[in-house]
Amino acid sequence: MEAVLKHSRQRDAIKNLLKDVACHPSAEWIYENVKKDFPKISLATVYRNLNLLCDTGEAVRIDVGDGTVRYDGYVKNHYHFLCSKCRRVIDVSEDEISHINSEIEKNHGVSVERHSIVFFGKCNECKK
Ligand SMILES: [Zn+2]
Ligand SMILES: [Zn+2]
Repeated sequence: MEAVLKHSRQRDAIKNLLKDVACHPSAEWIYENVKKDFPKISLATVYRNLNLLCDTGEAVRIDVGDGTVRYDGYVKNHYHFLCSKCRRVIDVSEDEISHINSEIEKNHGVSVERHSIVFFGKCNECKK
């Protein structure tokens, strides 16, 4: 019972951390930050909890195309922009790109159900 409680507290801490930050962190980043409250936590435990959160739909795993997996506490359907300089990931809403679906449907006579898209470039800090 004690162990179960401790584990769910760790999971809650990871979940809350993901909800609080907009940086789309990696598992390593989450590990470094959760360690402040749970000094004995291991990276493997962080991974296990992240997998659980993704399985239950409380977090999403995102492949930003740079070879690292990042995690997002914002689970509504949306897209990402990756800064090639500082690796910052910015959320792009469904509304911002919804016209792409109708363009493709019009041009090819198809019916688009979903798409997977990542934008690459320089963020507003890095392009200065
Ligand atoms: Zn940047
Ligand atoms: Zn996101």
